[in-house]
Amino acid sequence: MAFAGPEIEQLIQLLSRLPGLGPRSARRAVLHLIKKKDQLMIPLSTALDRAVIAVRSCEICGNVDTQSPCAICADPRRAETGMLIVVEDVADLWALERAGIGAVRYHVLGGVLSPLDGVGPDDLSIEALLARAPQYREIVLAVNATVEGQTTAHYITDRLGPGAPKVTRLAHGVPVGGELDYLDEGTLSQALKARTQI
Ligand code: ZN
Repeated sequence: MAFAGPEIEQLIQLLSRLPGLGPRSARRAVLHLIKKKDQLMIPLSTALDRAVIAVRSCEICGNVDTQSPCAICADPRRAETGMLIVVEDVADLWALERAGIGAVRYHVLGGVLSPLDGVGPDDLSIEALLARAPQYREIVLAVNATVEGQTTAHYITDRLGPGAPKVTRLAHGVPVGGELDYLDEGTLSQALKARTQI
């Protein structure tokens, strides 16, 4: 039974759809917003209104920004002749940027090939990638280490064909700070195959 007004109930319902928030955390978040109306609720409402109007998808790489081309594609210090990193979605691009990997550019696929879910090559931004690829020296396939991710990487490698540019993928192995004893067999055997000379 609803014990709060429809405006509050709707807010809880909407927030509970966010990743990482269930109904319980959403209720706590809404209560917190109500208690901090001036410091949090009003600025959040204003920020949401502004973001709704400003947000757009980059016409070149598929990143999310308030301008298109996005700040990364528009940055002349990131040469169009260098490294193009292919990711599944914007969260991966942002993760790589946070890692500070340098003057690279990106291409967001918008997902991975998954025949079971009905996702084929036409549902992803693969043709646009093939059109961009020849300008770059190296294409890094930074897709997830899942079956679908690796299938997608193989498909793209086939479509790119032999010759320039060079196509690479991320190494699979021991995480920084990780203990061997805790790793699954697949990760350990991949790490051994991808060993490097000291
Ligand atoms: Zn872009």
